[in-house]
Amino acid sequence: NKTIVLDKRPIGKPKMSDFKITDQEMPKERAGELLLKTTYISVDPYLRGRMSDAKSYIDPFKLNEPISSGIVAEVISATNDLYSKGDFVSGMLEWKEYQTANANAVYKVDGEKAPLSAYLGILGMTGLTAYLGLHQIGAPKKGETLVVSGAAGAVGSVVGQIGKILGLRVVGIAGTDEKVAMLKEDFGFDEGINYNTTENMAKAIAAACPKGVDIYFDNVGGEISDGVIVNINKFARMVICGAISLYNETQMPVGPRVQPFLVKNSALMQGFIVSNYADKFPEAIAQLASWLGEGKLTYKETIVDGFENTPQAFMDLFVGRNKGKMIVKV
Ligand code: NDP
Repeated sequence: NKTIVLDKRPIGKPKMSDFKITDQEMPKERAGELLLKTTYISVDPYLRGRMSDAKSYIDPFKLNEPISSGIVAEVISATNDLYSKGDFVSGMLEWKEYQTANANAVYKVDGEKAPLSAYLGILGMTGLTAYLGLHQIGAPKKGETLVVSGAAGAVGSVVGQIGKILGLRVVGIAGTDEKVAMLKEDFGFDEGINYNTTENMAKAIAAACPKGVDIYFDNVGGEISDGVIVNINKFARMVICGAISLYNETQMPVGPRVQPFLVKNSALMQGFIVSNYADKFPEAIAQLASWLGEGKLTYKETIVDGFENTPQAFMDLFVGRNKGKMIVKV
């Protein structure tokens, strides 16, 4: 039963040697538990934070213990009346081929209604993040301009599409020309900016947003965000969802001071953690599923094959090897 444990706390960029693949005993389910076989593993940028021992909103992983993330798994046997062999479930589970779980630690997912991998993306944590971050903090109003960083990723690509559904002008920032083309052609963004070939982000944003920026949905932080913030409008809202450009920094770089822009524009900048909005998950999932069904929303996935490749898939997030949601198929 292959299991991936955290061997060392990464310093700077995570390396293969920070992880260890071990062979552990096959688990046996106790009364009320399910025996599960892993089908899909979600790798996410936020896991980087849990690999260090700094205090955060979620506890660090322990050394020599399995890493956990969102997983879809098949029920192999169940000693619980609500589940039967062959059902699929999702939950925060460990990076193991087989594991047992308490029946109330997972929920059933329906492969007939949507592909199973979608429950880790558009109908899971990243879809919820996009929907709730934009609505709860972004407070979008028709006709406004929305800028999204990390736009070609799991969260960003959904934020931009929801922006279009709500009648906003949407500008996305991503790392390659191919991704920028995808934003416009596949996801309906109005404009895209390749940050790797843009020398002056502030000027590029000004050109792409002739009426200024009303909402900034930030997934990356750092210099990209510095260039957006100087273009905000009066009463702008900035959803600080992630800062992937800073996750591997050992020394936090100091950027321009943003306070004068916030004061001058009466702007709001607020950190967002999706789990704070658990009471709104059902309505958000219902809306996302209904837009998907109507064809108003679409999604992309980068699916990596093989359990052993999970650490590499995780590391590849930091060099943008994914389009849409990065998922490992076991
Ligand atoms: P993505 O699918 O967006 O994957 C990460 C992407 O980040 C890469 O594809 C890459 O795209 C981009 N990237 C990597 N390094 C850099 C860099 N140095 N500068 C700019 N862009 C970079 O991941 P998710 O959609 O899962 O997550 C996006 C963000 O949202 C993350 O910051 C994550 O932590 C955050 N998040 C926050 C949640 C919350 O509750 N607050 C919940 C879920 C996610 P490119 O090629 O364009 O560089």
